[in-house]
Amino acid sequence: MPTFQSLFQNNRVWAKNKVDQDPTLFSRLVKQQNPEFLWIGCSDSRVPANEIVGLMPGELFVHRNLANLVLHTDFNCLSVIQFAVESLKVRDIIVCGHYECSGVAHAMKKSDVGGLPESWLRHVEDLAMKKQCELSEISCDAQRLTKLCELNVQEQVRNVSRTDILRNAWRRGQHVAVHGVVYDLADGLLHDLNVSVTGL
Ligand SMILES: [Zn+2]
Repeated sequence: MPTFQSLFQNNRVWAKNKVDQDPTLFSRLVKQQNPEFLWIGCSDSRVPANEIVGLMPGELFVHRNLANLVLHTDFNCLSVIQFAVESLKVRDIIVCGHYECSGVAHAMKKSDVGGLPESWLRHVEDLAMKKQCELSEISCDAQRLTKLCELNVQEQVRNVSRTDILRNAWRRGQHVAVHGVVYDLADGLLHDLNVSVTGL
């Protein structure tokens, strides 16, 4: 099992490999970042953003939280979106959910995790209530969870698209698209939910 100290050894090996592959990588990155993508994903340790889409340091601007939520009152997430759109001028915003998301599962089972996570995940519970008709047509629990993971991504794509940040960007004629994708833990594959928004 890795220890805190062993992470430094891992890090030295990683940095050396990167320099071997691309000798000027760090000297370029230290000057500026120029990512084309903003990734909004779940904090789940099994969904490492850069790694699953094969992007290098500097290529993906990342925000992650429990159950990949975008709330209109979350200044943390909104600050990241505003910085990504207005300063970094990313071209694509990717909301990435994943199947078997424990945050989404928690909202369905209504089990008690307590504290702040409980309050945070109530937003997913609200979504499940809003989509009750659609979800109740699915009798299998696992399939219902799969569906809610997808609906949650769609809802967050809508939330990103409806921020003043995106509305203003589109009004200015800036090209930026918002996409919804879902990652399958079972096979490591990413699926496009085809809910992309390129303007309102
Ligand atoms: Zn998750």
